Amino acid sequence: MSQTQRDPKVVIIGAGMTGILMTIKLREAGIRDLVILEKTDRIGGTWRENTYPGVACDVAAHMYTYSFELNPEWSHRYAHGDEIQTYFEKVARKYGVMDAVSFNESVDHCHYHNGKWDVGTSKGRRFEADFVINCTGILHHPAYPNIKGLDSFEGAKFHTARWDHSVDLAGKRVGIIGTGSTSAQIVPELQKKVQKLTVFQRTPHWLFPSENYRYSEQDKQRFRDKPERIWRTRRTNEFFLQQFITKAVTGQKLPNFIFSNLCKAYLRFSVGDPELRKKLTPDYRVGCKRIIISNQYYPALQKENVELHTDGIREITPKGVIDNNGVEHEFDVLVLATGFNPVSYMRPMDMRGENGQTIDEAWEKKIATYRSMFMPGFPNNFLMLGPNTPIGNYSVIAMSEVQCGYILKLMERWRKGEFDAIDAKPEAAQSFVARMKDGLKNTVWVGGCSSWYLDGDGDPILWPYTWKQWEEEMEEPNLADFNTSQCEPEPLSKTA
Ligand code: NAP
Repeated sequence: MSQTQRDPKVVIIGAGMTGILMTIKLREAGIRDLVILEKTDRIGGTWRENTYPGVACDVAAHMYTYSFELNPEWSHRYAHGDEIQTYFEKVARKYGVMDAVSFNESVDHCHYHNGKWDVGTSKGRRFEADFVINCTGILHHPAYPNIKGLDSFEGAKFHTARWDHSVDLAGKRVGIIGTGSTSAQIVPELQKKVQKLTVFQRTPHWLFPSENYRYSEQDKQRFRDKPERIWRTRRTNEFFLQQFITKAVTGQKLPNFIFSNLCKAYLRFSVGDPELRKKLTPDYRVGCKRIIISNQYYPALQKENVELHTDGIREITPKGVIDNNGVEHEFDVLVLATGFNPVSYMRPMDMRGENGQTIDEAWEKKIATYRSMFMPGFPNNFLMLGPNTPIGNYSVIAMSEVQCGYILKLMERWRKGEFDAIDAKPEAAQSFVARMKDGLKNTVWVGGCSSWYLDGDGDPILWPYTWKQWEEEMEEPNLADFNTSQCEPEPLSKTA
């Protein structure tokens, strides 16, 4: 670090994949004065919280890996959840990230004043920070269905992200509500164990088949011997996603045509019973809801002990579920695979920007950011994986690495003393949102379905252009889109 560089105080909120990444990269850049506030007792975010049977990542493992920490040891093409959790723990230990984490310490408030953030925690501590980085994840607030009588059920009942491992499912009658990516991973596992599994589907999803082959010891040795082989595997996956899936879902006609027909053909050839096939056929465009990557879900649904129920749920009773035909289905266990509230971001934290403005107030009319990461009025505050990040079937790790690079470039300027506070201009955010809206018109996400991809107004919160375009635009911050200022910081009354 040069003599003239300042060393910022940084608070990172959350020790999941993005929090670990930010800590490693900030330290590599010479920024040492940082703390990660983690609300639980373990790192890992999504992979700590989701421990349901069959949990895995449907992005190929060698792509769902930090670029600076390749892993020749992945056991399968799509890694299992516990393996991913172990990977993050190993990386965090290797890079000394654990030393920076304060566990079981959640953020109560986070208030901006004159170039500094005042962060107060559940342990009653206060931190004064030059920068706050929200690494709070996307899908971590479980969504519970609003079904009459839900609380009256007398058997075991839990959300997939709160799996109760004390419940033995062997030989039980199990009902599962929801048929998204999570359910599609659970159903094949439960089918092997339970006496009877009833799957309650409200809307069918499109599936794309992909074999989860095991890497042999020989494969792993080849990866260990030559990391370039890992890169080759990774680039092949990236190419497929960028050139095919991303183009298909963002409205390019030929990839969309091919992709749609592959999904339709897969359904046609793998489900023989026309009645069942009809139930499984969506009436919206392929890709509108997140594509489920699985070659196990359709076969599992056709096993004798599995029933797909599509008549809707009227209410839940102490014994089970009454469907819309008035028929009661009795269960020992009820699993809620009903997804997440994705647009909470850092809420319900009491975060206030300039003039005490809360996030709810800032986003009262619409969730809006500049480049997914900046909320005007919240200077020196970055949001990882915010709205309109190119989330889809791509790797969120790759996205986070790009966002991390962008943040580091801005912080570097702060360190040189170019400014004390940096805040996206409201007009820059408006123009970003308008450009998103314009691009989204062409995508499949406005293809007549409802999904967690949509905000409260029904507008998709995804990036509607290509991955390459996003990477290029994120290469260098455009300072003309920010207000910068010098501040005279006032000391806080109590600083940890
Ligand atoms: P989801 O895709 O939002 O699916 C929720 C399911 O619950 C839907 O089938 C939904 O039906 C149903 N549902 C919700 N409320 C209901 C109600 N009141 N009555 C009946 N059904 C109801 O959630 P998810 O499956 O947990 O997946 C969320 C996201 O997590 C995925 O899209 C993916 O991004 C991520 N994920 C990733 C992986 C991975 O491998 N990388 C694995 C699992 C999850 P409707 O469709 O009718 O709304």
